[in-house]
Amino acid sequence: VKMSVQPELLPTCLVPRHYDLDLDLDLKHFVFAGRVLITADVKEETDVVTMHALDITITSVQVTSSSDGSVTRPLSQPLISLAPTQPRKLHKCDGVTSFSEDTISIKLERKLPCGEVLLEIGYDGELNNNMCGFYRSKALIQGKEEYMAVTQHEPTDCRRTLPCFDEPALKATFDVTLRVPAELTALSNMPVKEEVVDGDRKVVRFERTPRMSTYLLAMAVGRLEYVEGTTSKGVKYRVYACPGVTSQCTFALEVGMKVLDFFSDYFGISYPLPKLDMIALPDFAAGAMENWGLITYREANLLIDEINSPLVTKQRVAYVVAHELAHQWFGNLVTMSWWTDLWLNEGFATWVGNFAVDHLHKSWDIWTQFVNQYAGRALQLDALETSHPIEVEVKRSAEVSEIFDEISYCKGAACIMMLTSYLGMDIFRSGISSYLRKFQYGNASTRDLWEALTEASGKNVEEFMGAWTRNVGYPVVALSRSSGKLSFTVERFLATGKEAKGSEWWVPMRLLHSSGKEEVVDIKGRALEVQEEEQGGWVKANLHQSAFFRVRYDDSLLALLGPAIRELRLSPADRLGVQADAFALARAGKMRTDKALALAMEFEEEEDFTVWADLLGSLADVMSTWAKEAEHEKLQEMLVKLLHKVMRKVGWEAKPGEAALFPMLRPLVILNLGRNGDEEVAAEARRRMSSGWKTIPADLRYAVYGTVVGTGGREEFEEVKRVFEEAEMSDERNRAMRALCATKNESLMQEVLAMTLDGSIRSQDVFYVFGSLAANRLGMDVAWRFLQENWSKIAGMFPSGQPPLARIIKTTVSSFATEERAVEVEAFFADKETPGAEMSLKQALETIRMNAAWLQRDREVVRAWLAAHAA
Ligand SMILES: [Zn+2]
Repeated sequence: VKMSVQPELLPTCLVPRHYDLDLDLDLKHFVFAGRVLITADVKEETDVVTMHALDITITSVQVTSSSDGSVTRPLSQPLISLAPTQPRKLHKCDGVTSFSEDTISIKLERKLPCGEVLLEIGYDGELNNNMCGFYRSKALIQGKEEYMAVTQHEPTDCRRTLPCFDEPALKATFDVTLRVPAELTALSNMPVKEEVVDGDRKVVRFERTPRMSTYLLAMAVGRLEYVEGTTSKGVKYRVYACPGVTSQCTFALEVGMKVLDFFSDYFGISYPLPKLDMIALPDFAAGAMENWGLITYREANLLIDEINSPLVTKQRVAYVVAHELAHQWFGNLVTMSWWTDLWLNEGFATWVGNFAVDHLHKSWDIWTQFVNQYAGRALQLDALETSHPIEVEVKRSAEVSEIFDEISYCKGAACIMMLTSYLGMDIFRSGISSYLRKFQYGNASTRDLWEALTEASGKNVEEFMGAWTRNVGYPVVALSRSSGKLSFTVERFLATGKEAKGSEWWVPMRLLHSSGKEEVVDIKGRALEVQEEEQGGWVKANLHQSAFFRVRYDDSLLALLGPAIRELRLSPADRLGVQADAFALARAGKMRTDKALALAMEFEEEEDFTVWADLLGSLADVMSTWAKEAEHEKLQEMLVKLLHKVMRKVGWEAKPGEAALFPMLRPLVILNLGRNGDEEVAAEARRRMSSGWKTIPADLRYAVYGTVVGTGGREEFEEVKRVFEEAEMSDERNRAMRALCATKNESLMQEVLAMTLDGSIRSQDVFYVFGSLAANRLGMDVAWRFLQENWSKIAGMFPSGQPPLARIIKTTVSSFATEERAVEVEAFFADKETPGAEMSLKQALETIRMNAAWLQRDREVVRAWLAAHAA
């Protein structure tokens, strides 16, 4: 890759090989004393040691030469204070300078000669409250508050736990020792080697890790219980959680053991460590983290209760577990050389995570869900001018937290999917396997992966994939028919509808003709024509939505697809794709919105969960942009009418032998009917709620909570708030909390918002409140005002710009649809620091202006269509 921005890396004169880390934890005062011995190679003579360190106080440094035992000290002591009370501020003293806010440079009294040295550093750190580095998490154990200490080091927070060379390519081995209260469990990447109890304290030493990146180092200390098993290949597998909930760990254990074996076979490489632990944490900023041998999760992504967990949560847990397990090879065994190639980790784990879940549960129809949840989200974000390429330039590691987004995960996965269908699954697998073997315990780049796949396939993978990973955005292919020919024209798709020049892609166009004939056409330029053998029938382009682009049919081709959808002649993924593309084109001004709405009416007979989920998402975009228009009510009526047939089919009660995804379709239909004014559904929801939330089947709870709050007043709000207070499972509490945001009463909205600040809602979950209120047409203004008034408190929960902050900003404002709001948002953030959210803010502003333009453009045609449709 030609990088116009050079990454800012540590000097290469000193390269680490091994860390011997010893941490003494004080869980009462939330501090730790650390000592690290780093074995390093001096590659070039130097009298300055530069490494990463943040929010720790270094108390001593000395360097010993391995060859002659001579000791070199810094020019002066004491060295430096990186007091947690003054984060990101380094006190420069004699002998220590820094070149940026999170590195230290130690000037030594003389030059170190080339060869091996031992760098010994003593320091103090804080078990912080910010979900990064080594942090504390408050658990409620049998009604009593207790703290645990856990690490989260990806992307760049290992430097908060120890002074280190915190770049993914600087791999080393680690010996970890933890000094902790004797009654607690201490975990790290590797099994315990030795545990020595001394009074009420104990010293726990762990076996040496393989060579790995610093961001994968992990530790967890707390009162824990576990369930365990041994995989067929002999790996000891445990799932840990706070005491009292081990029965909720068995689902993840079963999935995990199966998937670990599956991946060992699929990659052709056994899982490299002797044990694997997964642990559920009460406070966790992301969804989960793939630390080698010790995977950490937020509770809602790991714990399953047979009675209280709906199918949607089971699917999520199975997927998240599979995703993190995929990283044990893709990311941990072979790591990206630099964050530019983050997508190699995340895009691949996302694709192969779905692949593994599909292998376990065919009936879940994962690949159709993939089109909605992964490809769909990526197509939406990547249509913005403010998107970024999959291979993204990252200058400093501090910039990396922003690219843990839909591009790296979802577009990355969608491009892998496209590549598998181009190469064929067997060839793809053998290329992946040889790539992993070649680079194991090392680092690799996108180019290395393409080379391995090229070798396996004999096809030029770089030529096929280059434009997809290096260009921002993706194409829209216009398809038209005239005089016996189909013609294709290709241009970049922008959600604003603007013309974009320059980009070209190799588009693998798969077609399905009404005769049943399938055809593949490679479009390498901007236009192509093909002769049609059979004329006049319908044509579905981008068959199974297996490639990453949108299709724009001419009017006559689109008209032919309507009946094909109504009569279910297309696959679910294809039915989904036709409407998703139509609504995206409408939003961009490339199709009239009334035509997209008319197309939606063809889905009355639809019974597929995923198709409905996607279509209702498309309609929700229209309704949220039209939220302040008089037509909003008519849109609601239209939606209720559209859903009546499917409601009769799914009903309120699960039936034996019904479709595998009806348990997810049923609540989706009920909630959409309930919230949009269907009296019968609302009454039934109230009736069910009144007999107690525990009597409602788990699959229906969210729909019932949301309907009763959205159609009720204070009393219904209090009823659901009690669920939030009574429920022990984080997943149930989240459901109740999100449902509370459906209220139409502003003072009740204020009550939920106040819970984000008074500690009733954990900071990890605050973004749910803002996102759910923004999806409520009466709540979006209230949430935005609250965010402005309490900005410093909310931003203060995420001082190093963890992902939830960007999510809060983006979801709160992205539903607005006027230029005035865009200006207001811009003005508010003009003088605010938004670490880790700068790109999200730009994307949100572009989205608001896109919504505003959409509304302006199509207000009249939508009004006219609704008037005619209602009549
Ligand atoms: Zn991941």
